[in-house]
Amino acid sequence: MTIAPTLRALILSMATLSSTAIAQEPSAVSAPAQEVRYLPLEQLRSFYKLMPRQSGRQGVRTVSNAGTVLELGPGMRELSIGGYRWQLSHPLKDDGAGDLLISEVDMVKLIDPVLRPSYIAERRLVRTVVIDPGHGGYDTGATGDYVHEADFTMQLAHELQAQLTKRGYTVVLTHEQNRHMSDQQRIACANGADAAIFISLHLNCGRSDIQGIETYTAAPDAPGAQRLPAHKHDAANAALAFAVHSSLVAATGAQDGACRRAQYSLLNSIDCPAIMVLAGYATHKDEGSKLATPEYRTKLAEAITEGVSTFARAINPDAKLEPQPEVVPEPAKPEPVAAPAPQPAKPKPKAKASNKKPAKSNKRRNNRRRR
Ligand SMILES: [Zn+2]
Repeated sequence: MTIAPTLRALILSMATLSSTAIAQEPSAVSAPAQEVRYLPLEQLRSFYKLMPRQSGRQGVRTVSNAGTVLELGPGMRELSIGGYRWQLSHPLKDDGAGDLLISEVDMVKLIDPVLRPSYIAERRLVRTVVIDPGHGGYDTGATGDYVHEADFTMQLAHELQAQLTKRGYTVVLTHEQNRHMSDQQRIACANGADAAIFISLHLNCGRSDIQGIETYTAAPDAPGAQRLPAHKHDAANAALAFAVHSSLVAATGAQDGACRRAQYSLLNSIDCPAIMVLAGYATHKDEGSKLATPEYRTKLAEAITEGVSTFARAINPDAKLEPQPEVVPEPAKPEPVAAPAPQPAKPKPKAKASNKKPAKSNKRRNNRRRR
C-alpha cells in the first residue's frame, strides 16, 4: 500500500486508536487475518482542513473545505464526495463516543486519491486511451426495447475515439467491428498499450423502473487478499473513476448510480488505471430511449473525454500530461557539417559529398514544416 508520507504518519499515529476501536467488533475478532483497520473522522477532518457543516439529512455528517464537500454517516456503506456517490469497501461505524470511523482502505484508496490526486504515487503521463466496446458478435449484451448494448457500445466507442483524438490522445479500440472478444484479448490489448488508461463501455439492465449511470473499478488490495495487477493502480483507479463518473452525471443529469467496486476478472487483470462505465439502463423507457439517440451518445462521449482530461491534469499538475495535438517530431537540427567527420584516408570522397544531399533536403523539409 503506497501512501503519501504525511498521510502515512497520520495513520501510524492513529494505529492504537483504530486497533482499540476495531477490537470491539466481533467480526474482526473472529477473522484476524482480514482485520479492518479504522480511522476516526475527527482527525482526518483536521488533516484535510474539513469544517463541519449543517447537514440536511438526519444521521449524516457534512464536512467541507474549499475544494469539496463530504457527506457520511454511521452504518452507511457509501459516502458522497462533492455531491457524487461512492460505494465504500467497508461500512462507516460509530465509535460509541460521537465520532465516525472510516476504514483505512477507504481512506487511503478512495478518499485520499479523490481529494488529492496529485499525491498518487504511481501517477504517470496519460498518452493512450484504450476504449473497450463491451460485448460483440454473438454476445449482444443487454437488450431492451429501446437499445441493444453491443451496438450502443460500438457507436459510443467511435464517438469517444473522435472526441479523445481531437484532444491529442492516442486511442486504441479493443475491437473495431462488432465481434466477440475474450476478456484475455481485451486485457492483452490494454496491457500492451503505452502510458494508457482503460475504459470499458457497457449498459445496464434490470427492473423497468431502475435507471442511472454506474462506474466500476477493481476492488482495492486488502489484507489477506490475492495481489492482482489492478492493485498497483488502486489509487489511480479511484481518481479516474471519480473524474469520469462525476463528469457523466453532471453533463447528462442522469441518476447517480454511484462509483462502485467490483471483482471483475477484466478489471482485476489490467495493469493500468481502468474503469468500466455502465452508461445507463437499456431496460428503462426514458433512459433507454435517450441512449438510442446520437445526441445523447455525443453528450456521453464529451463527458467521458472531459473526465479523462480532468484525471490526466489532476494526477500531475506539474507536467504537461495532455499530449500536444499534431506534434511534428523535430529531428535533430540538420547539421550536415556535424555529420561523420571527414576521414581523409578513406577513398571515394565523391560518394561522401553525395551523402550530404539528403541532409540538405531534410533541412528544406524541416523549414517547410515549421511554417
Ligand atoms: Zn455489458
